[in-house]
Amino acid sequence: MLKLENVSKIYYNNGIIATGFSKINLELNLGEFVIITGESGSGKSTLLNVLSGLDSYEEGEMYINGKETSHYTEKDLEQYRKKYIANIFQNFNLINSYTVYQNIELVLLLSGYKKRQVKKRILNIIEQVGLTKFINTKVSKLSGGQKQRVAIARAIVKDTPIIVADEPTGNLDTESAKDIIDILKKVSEDKLVIIVTHNIEQFEQYATRIIKMHDGKIIENKEIIKKDKDNLIMGTRSKKITLLNRWRLGIRNTFNIKSKFLLLFMVFFFITSAIFLEYTSFKLTEANVSDGSSINFQDLSENRILIKKKDKTSFSEEDYLKISNLQNIDYIVKNDLFLDTRITLCRDLITGEFCSYYVTINDIANYKESVDLGRMPEKENEIILQTSNKNYYIEYRVNEVLEKDFYIAGQGEQHILDGIKVVGIKFNENSNNYDAKLYMNSVQIDKLSTYINEGYSKIKVLFQNQYLQNKVLPSSKVEKGKAIVSKDLSGLVQNGRIKGKQINIEISNIFYSEKKELIIDNTYDQKSFVRLTGYETYNNFIGVIFINADDYNSLFDKPPYQSSVFVKDVENIDSTITDLNNLEIETKKVTDFKVETDESYYQMIRFASTIVTVVLIILLFFISYFIIKIILKSRAIYYTTLRMLGSTKKEIRKILDIELFINSNLAYFTTLLIIYLSKNSIINIKYLTDLTEHIGIFEYVLIYIVIILMSKILSRKVSKDIFKKSAISTYNEEV
Ligand code: ADP
Ligand code: MG
Repeated sequence: MLKLENVSKIYYNNGIIATGFSKINLELNLGEFVIITGESGSGKSTLLNVLSGLDSYEEGEMYINGKETSHYTEKDLEQYRKKYIANIFQNFNLINSYTVYQNIELVLLLSGYKKRQVKKRILNIIEQVGLTKFINTKVSKLSGGQKQRVAIARAIVKDTPIIVADEPTGNLDTESAKDIIDILKKVSEDKLVIIVTHNIEQFEQYATRIIKMHDGKIIENKEIIKKDKDNLIMGTRSKKITLLNRWRLGIRNTFNIKSKFLLLFMVFFFITSAIFLEYTSFKLTEANVSDGSSINFQDLSENRILIKKKDKTSFSEEDYLKISNLQNIDYIVKNDLFLDTRITLCRDLITGEFCSYYVTINDIANYKESVDLGRMPEKENEIILQTSNKNYYIEYRVNEVLEKDFYIAGQGEQHILDGIKVVGIKFNENSNNYDAKLYMNSVQIDKLSTYINEGYSKIKVLFQNQYLQNKVLPSSKVEKGKAIVSKDLSGLVQNGRIKGKQINIEISNIFYSEKKELIIDNTYDQKSFVRLTGYETYNNFIGVIFINADDYNSLFDKPPYQSSVFVKDVENIDSTITDLNNLEIETKKVTDFKVETDESYYQMIRFASTIVTVVLIILLFFISYFIIKIILKSRAIYYTTLRMLGSTKKEIRKILDIELFINSNLAYFTTLLIIYLSKNSIINIKYLTDLTEHIGIFEYVLIYIVIILMSKILSRKVSKDIFKKSAISTYNEEV
């Protein structure tokens, strides 16, 4: 029993109140074939929508089997529709991109049936409505009458006790209309059928009850054939859609409209590649911040000024002359990287190697004082050690330092300059324990220059269009313009013929970049290693690319781009800076770097670029949200249809989830494919290869998670939009 007591439907639209119908009393039972008629605007559709749970009501009470429904939430209404109601619409409300079979099958899949279970039933019903020939035809290709038959078949297959049809023949010619009515009658035994129509004659012969409406009220309610009252209306069994079928629908929806698929795919592809590019360029800034292009100033003397030419060229001797002619100049350190590079001073002892501590280097020519212990240097290899007076090691073991042989070591304690002799020691009152400086001859300093320049540069190897991670070292055994590489590299060349191939060495630092094109002369393996390279232990040099020592040095042997000036009088340092600026020279007091060298400066850069990346990703999210929303809007009719068929919000969201999941995965893996192809030189996008050099498995996974999460949020938002309004108002908007 379905019963209305004083039910009213009132519309509120932007402050305007309109009555759909008012104070309706009505009782309907199974077995009835009810015709509702009346002029346009009399409230027929509104009444039907309330009866079928597509719309809510404002006053009175509607009962199903004696139970009140006025407190029903949208969720309860979903259940109500699923259990009791099958709708047939004037506009058919079918899914045009699905075939006849798929349209009918859809209802059953949504009700939790398995695909194989329902086949017979569907074929049977298609036969009943006379569409066997069109089983696999897309609905968009059918005539109006045929479409309405599909809609009826769909309503029947749902097997609900109540069938509701709003002007089912409104869009059909008389002939098809008659067919439809006959079919409806035939399949509706024992059900409650409620039909709204203008055209009462078409249905009169079957009607058991005729209701006439006028101005929102029932003006006539005529029972033609009496039916049992108070019989219970049994709802259909309904389960949740199975996981498999949800995926089936998700996949079907992804691909069944080609243009929509392509558009959506492109948006996702755009997001994915944009995130990749943004993220990798973010990593690139990070790498630049920490790849040696930033100098940590070790010599923070108050009288030191860093200088660079405003036109970014290197300093010439003429420039230096002009500078040294200025007032207040004490001395110039041309290659000032020495001042800031920490190296170690080591000694071979009988008991093993001993490296004392970190030191920086200065030119002996700049040493104007006397020594506290020992003597001033006389020979090229003799040096002065300036250190803190708190350096107890030196104090107590002067005999182990003075006039003894030392060598200078770089990172990893490799020898970079041998045969150094400390002859003088100068104690420095103010500096701390670890602060030490070597004053040495400029000839010796030059010997260190390649090592030091190298530390501030990045060396890259370009071979067969890809960047290799291999190290490069100088060897006196290699001819000029040639390179000797590990045999393993042969794998990168077709048929392994690697000799005679070109290999490029690129170096870059904050001042300049330089490229050398070399020809591979020979390859080494473990056996031939020593003979070909002159280096001793193969194991320490696996994969290294050896080039001629002069070629190697020439990469770094550049006139200075940055130098340092030391002034005599710190009080007047600002006027010296003005003088330098007048010579078109950029200046910076090294003391200004005190804070920046604190790491906090780089942390700030990192922080800023992280923010930019996050903001960009959020921005991308919103852009794509709006585009995807517009694309999916064209599909809102599809989701509304699902909703009319009794699908819940959650189910629809999950189906949409799958659709966007598939799309985002396709986009992600397409991007990966492009990266893979360009990494392997199958397609040549150097920019991409460069960028992705800095991202590893962690980043790939991270970006994947970001994208999948984004698609998930998008689907949540879009499905929320679909469900913002009641089912019928979304439907009315779409049709
Ligand atoms: P019928 O189906 O009999 O032609 P309806 O049920 O569509 O009539 O409409 C009944 C009344 O409710 C009409 O006055 C109509 O203007 C009003 N109405 C219907 N739908 C809405 C709506 N969404 N917003 C405001 N008023 C509406
Ligand atoms: Mg109507």
